[in-house]
Amino acid sequence: NNEQAAAKAAAVNANSGAPTIFDKIINKEIPSSIVYEDEKVLAFRDISPQAPVHVLVIPKFRDGLTELGKAEARHGEILGELLHAAKIVAEKEGILDGFRVVINSGPTACQSVYHLHLHVLGGRQMNWPPG
Ligand code: IMP
Repeated sequence: NNEQAAAKAAAVNANSGAPTIFDKIINKEIPSSIVYEDEKVLAFRDISPQAPVHVLVIPKFRDGLTELGKAEARHGEILGELLHAAKIVAEKEGILDGFRVVINSGPTACQSVYHLHLHVLGGRQMNWPPG
């Protein structure tokens, strides 16, 4: 389907180190609705929300983390900070009673932007299994 085709196309450039749309968001070259920001992490609303709350949490410095599948030991600290930022987002958005954190890694998982990001989803009943 279209989603899978787009994911495959995005994956072609995944390891080229090419900038992604998220660089423009980090650099405030294109607008975003920021929910949380600190020195290392940025959280902003997804442009195509899949739940009443749908926020993306990203590292400001990609440092090779195009996808979770490229993670190495040196990324441990930032990976922990991203998860903690997801909790801060859930708290700010009032969904601490129940929320989901998703990371799509690679084309088979339909990753479309090759700058690691956590999806924080909530504000409705979440179902399992995911699609
Ligand atoms: P992925 O499919 O896990 O790679 O998720 C990428 C997400 O980025 C999708 O949910 C998109 O809706 C979202 N996205 C793409 N471009 C933008 C943007 O310019 N602003 C906010 N979200 C975006």
